[in-house]
Amino acid sequence: MASSSVDVAILGGGLLGWSAAYRLAKAGRRVLVIDALEPGTATNAGAGIIAPGTSVRINEESIDIFSAAVEYYPKLLAELAADGETNTGYATVGSLFIARTDEEADRLPETLELMRTRRAAGMGNIGDAHLVTGAEAKDLFPALSDLPAAIHSTGPARVNGRLMRDSLRAAAEKHGAKLAIGKGSIVTDDDVATGVTVNGETIVAGQTLICGGAWSAALGEQLGVFLDLYPQRGQILHIDMVGQDTSAWPILTGYHSHYILTFPESRVVCGATREHDSGFDPTFTAGGMHEVLTEAFAVADGLRVGKVAEWRVGLRPFARDEKPILGDVPGWRNLFVATGHGPSGLQLGPVSGAGVADLMLGDRPRFDLAPFTAARFG
Ligand SMILES: Cc1cc2nc3c(=O)[nH]c(=O)nc-3n(C[C@H](O)[C@H](O)[C@H](O)COP(=O)(O)OP(=O)(O)OC[C@H]3O[C@@H](n4cnc5c(N)ncnc54)[C@H](O)[C@@H]3O)c2cc1C
Repeated sequence: MASSSVDVAILGGGLLGWSAAYRLAKAGRRVLVIDALEPGTATNAGAGIIAPGTSVRINEESIDIFSAAVEYYPKLLAELAADGETNTGYATVGSLFIARTDEEADRLPETLELMRTRRAAGMGNIGDAHLVTGAEAKDLFPALSDLPAAIHSTGPARVNGRLMRDSLRAAAEKHGAKLAIGKGSIVTDDDVATGVTVNGETIVAGQTLICGGAWSAALGEQLGVFLDLYPQRGQILHIDMVGQDTSAWPILTGYHSHYILTFPESRVVCGATREHDSGFDPTFTAGGMHEVLTEAFAVADGLRVGKVAEWRVGLRPFARDEKPILGDVPGWRNLFVATGHGPSGLQLGPVSGAGVADLMLGDRPRFDLAPFTAARFG
């Protein structure tokens, strides 16, 4: 970075950092993103399911931001395409919400009703949702075990988190954003954030944004600000179903917390552990492998022939109350935060980054940031 002064310094170059950077750079701000390349960043490991409307696991208090997120995605993709960035791995492939037992099958009509209610309330990305038999589900996802029934929804999508982040970065750079590699810290003067230091250099910034993922709490701590989040480790398996085109197979979810999704040409992704006591340790463990494989084979026995391609591990920025942390940082001027998305950051990240960027630009945020304020931690 030739200049030692920018309009905005962003600490963290994951999906959140680059989502905000793209908006801010497009609005003409001189943006510097600083990234420490920490091992185990969440965006590098994220599965890529975008299906909040068909989930029984999302925090209902956050339903509005999930709606805003699925509405924003296609608009953002069109903007990125206009900037020449189309390689995001995004595709609408639908989902199968599976019942593994007869008891779960009995609950499907109620869950279908929940999806339809959300759709009627305006939530996108659900599409046509209806019950299917186990055999019909297997026609859609050939590796499926013999299961009683499922809900097939046509609207859910998947995205490749790494490609999405890289597309946002490339587009932001086309609008002038810069990247510095190194571990940054915040510089203050009285109650004002005045910039950052990185690699021994101080960069004056009109505004500073914390997007440090699971490492964000440490950045808050420097200033005596409590951001109540911690790393939740996720281990996830990529296999290749050699010779099979899996690209149109739907996402598999259900009442259990594990899931499966696919990417072209033959990639199948089986996720994931949710480990709350891992600390910042991005290790693949024998127990993690066992858990992921056991859960995957229980619902998709046909995956046993798959060739192990890759294990990934990421540290989700997990807010203890399971809500993102967005907006200005209480007690500090010119300081903002966008983090805490836990297991939902690939779906929420783009709209969250854009919403906080709206605030920083002095515009009305595109969704209500109030429920996500860092002030809630006292
Ligand atoms: C296994 C797994 C599966 C997932 N599946 C899904 C899914 O299907 N759908 C979904 O919506 N979400 C999913 N997620 C969650 C999603 O990946 C995360 O919520 C999201 O990627 C978080 O992005 P982030 O930018 O906040 O954090 P990160 O991607 O972790 O990025 C934070 C960045 O900050 C940098 N940093 C930290 N401290 C500093 C510092 N002091 N200076 C400079 N840089 C710093 C780090 O190097 C890092 O690059 C999954 C996560 C995992 C691990």
